[in-house]
This record gives sequence, C-alpha cells and structure tokens, in this order.
Amino acid sequence: MNLHEYQGRELFARFGIPVLPGQVAGTPEEARDIAASLDGTVVIKAQVLIGGRGKAGGVKLAHTPDEAFEKARDILNLTIKGLPVRRVLVARAAEIARELYLAIVLDRAKKLPLIMLSAEGGVEIEQVARDTPEKIIRRHVPLEGLRAYQARALFQPLLKDGRHVAQAADLLMKLWNVYRDGDCSLAEINPLVVTSEGRVIALDAKVIVDDSAEFRHREWESWRDPSDETPGARKARERGLSYVKLDGDIGCVVNGAGLAMATMDLIKHYGGEPANFLDIGGSSNPEKVTAALEIITSDARAEDGQGVRAILFNIFGGITRCDDVARGIVASLAATSGPGVPGALQVPLVIRLTGTNEAAARKILADAGLAATTSMDEGVRAVIAKAQEVPV
Ligand code: GDP
Ligand code: MN
Repeated sequence: MNLHEYQGRELFARFGIPVLPGQVAGTPEEARDIAASLDGTVVIKAQVLIGGRGKAGGVKLAHTPDEAFEKARDILNLTIKGLPVRRVLVARAAEIARELYLAIVLDRAKKLPLIMLSAEGGVEIEQVARDTPEKIIRRHVPLEGLRAYQARALFQPLLKDGRHVAQAADLLMKLWNVYRDGDCSLAEINPLVVTSEGRVIALDAKVIVDDSAEFRHREWESWRDPSDETPGARKARERGLSYVKLDGDIGCVVNGAGLAMATMDLIKHYGGEPANFLDIGGSSNPEKVTAALEIITSDARAEDGQGVRAILFNIFGGITRCDDVARGIVASLAATSGPGVPGALQVPLVIRLTGTNEAAARKILADAGLAATTSMDEGVRAVIAKAQEVPV
C-alpha cells in the first residue's frame, strides 16, 4: 500500500522524525482554518499518490489564511497525471537552505535494505539516476542493522557542518526504525531539508508498506483509501488473491504466480492481450474461484466499452485440486446464470486443467455441460479466438 504524504508524515512523527505541523483539508474553508491555526506562511500540497506534484502546480506557498483558501481551491480543482486532487495538506512552511534526497528501499536483488542519499534533492530522483548516477550514494544496511557511526559517515561528506551531520544522522536512524518496524518496502524523503535556521527536517514523505505484514498493523486499515482502489483490487485483497488489472481483453484465472506469468506470455505470443494477472494461489478452494470470476467480471464492467471478452482458466493441479476448481467454476456459473441476473457471466469461458484429480474435475464440468482441454497451448489459442468472436 502506498501512503499519502500526510499519512507518511504522521508515521514519521510517531518515530520522532522532525516534520512541520500540518493537517489535511478537503475544502478551501478547512484549508483557511488550518492556516489560521498554524500562524505564518504555510505550504498547500495536493495529496495524490504520485510524484512531481510541485511541477504540476500541486504545491504552493500561502502567506495568509485567505491566500491559503485561494491556493487550496486552485489545487483542489487540479487533476495531476490523471488523479483528481480530493485533499490537500496544509503545513507550516520551511525556509529552505539546502535540499537533499534520502530513502531506504528494499533491494530485492541483494535481499537487503538500501540507503540512497543525494545532495540533489527536490528534483525527481529518477532523473538524477539517469543523468548523473554518480551523485547518488548507495549503502546497503547489513543484517545486524544500522549503526549511528555509519549514519554519520554517510552525511559527513555532504553536509560538513557537524550540527547538521548530527541531526541528519539521527533522522536517518529514525527513518531506519520506520522502515524496519513499519514493515516498509520504501521510506523516502525528498526533499530532506536544512532550514535557514540550521534544522534538518523531512519536508515530504513517500512510504510504501508491505501488504504481507498487514496482520500486525491494525492502523493500516484506517489508512487505506477506498477511492485509490478499484472494487476488484479490494475484493482480491480481502479474499487473499494476487490480482493486477491490465489493459487487455482476456481474463486469466491461474494457480501460481509463475504459471500466471507464463500464461500471460503465451497469450501475448499468440497476439492476444491479457486483461489481468490473477493468481488464485497454491491451495485453492471453490470460494476463491468464485471470487476470482467476480473480480474479473466486475472490473470489466467498471470500464466503459472496453472490457474482458473471454476468460481463460489455466490450472495445473498440484496442491491445488482440479476438482475443487471445477466445483468453483460450476458453482459460480450457477449462481450467476440466467437472463437478467446481475453479474451474469456474459463472456465465453475456456478451461484448461491438468494434474491432481483431473478426471474428477472433467466429470464435474461435463455434468454441467462444460469442456476442458489439457493443453495450455490449445487453451490459449482457443481463448484468443473466442475473444475475437465477441463483437466490441
Ligand atoms: P513533489 O514534487 O510531489 O515531490 O512534492 P514536494 O513535497 O517534494 O514539494 C516539491 C517542492 O516544493 C520541494 O522540492 C520544495 O522545493 C518546495 N516546497 C515544499 N514544501 C516547501 C516549504 O515548506 N517551503 C518552501 N519554501 N518550499 C517548499
Ligand atoms: Mn517530493
């Protein structure tokens, strides 16, 4: 889950990272009230889950509460990279002397957290990485954790002034606590600033938490923003399915991430476009299959005009039993068939299954008037043909 900046700032503050006080507003009136209570210059910032808000006009300074009202109104009318701005953060503004970049990110290849630090803060780090990669300092965090002297050594060459180095190193130790105890895959501060009074503070917060750790973070549920999630994504998360919506028209229900990727590759190979990645998992049950079908069809309907035109089940029975999957298919078709039934499956289904309890599965399907192939190649070609038959 990606956190909004104001949520990231709350998390930072809880771990003792210096941030300037602020609150989130949904209307210009609220923004004016918050600005009045903060006293002095404030910064109004669009709360959308995308970078580059500054360049898009989503970050503005306001010197009076009335100006805060106007700037908030303007920003609340913006759509930044396709995302409508529904809320703004109104925070006390900083006087910036220097802008740095600091992040801790999971390096999946090295299987270690990676600290990234750069004197080129404020600009998009992707650009720095592309144009002047030597300006990014990278240090992996060893398994035993980060030590204070290591944090100081990182900032020493960049900041020089001992008071700044001490504050920045202390902040990095706290950011490490955020990353580790908060189960983050990214904790990024851009810009990390030195103010004109010589304070080191986090002026932005970009945090991604690892959904697999949700069971030990009750507070995450309140952070989740339903408007940032499609109905399908929400249902998938609640039912424990891995689901990613894509732009194509062939729905895929597959067991196992590797097989799901191979299925998508083969669909592309034969000129089709997958509508989604969906892994129903290793040990499946009929309910998961029903949920999978509902997710694919509901997300298809959510789109105007363009949607799923055919669905492929690709099941390699191992721990997953083919008969369980077959029962799930039959049950969900029974529950959603008949004229006028909302949610009725309107698109053709192609079933490929092989492996554990295949014969039992075939019998269950045949009794319901459904056929299945054992060949993945055949199944993929069949589903592409079916998708092309359905008129747009
Ligand atoms: P982003 O562009 O979406 O990453 O949004 P940021 O929060 O990083 O803000 C973009 C830029 O706005 C920063 O790099 C700063 O230059 C500027 N900015 C943000 N907050 C303040 C502030 O409190 N005071 C001043 N003077 N500038 C700010
Ligand atoms: Mn930023």
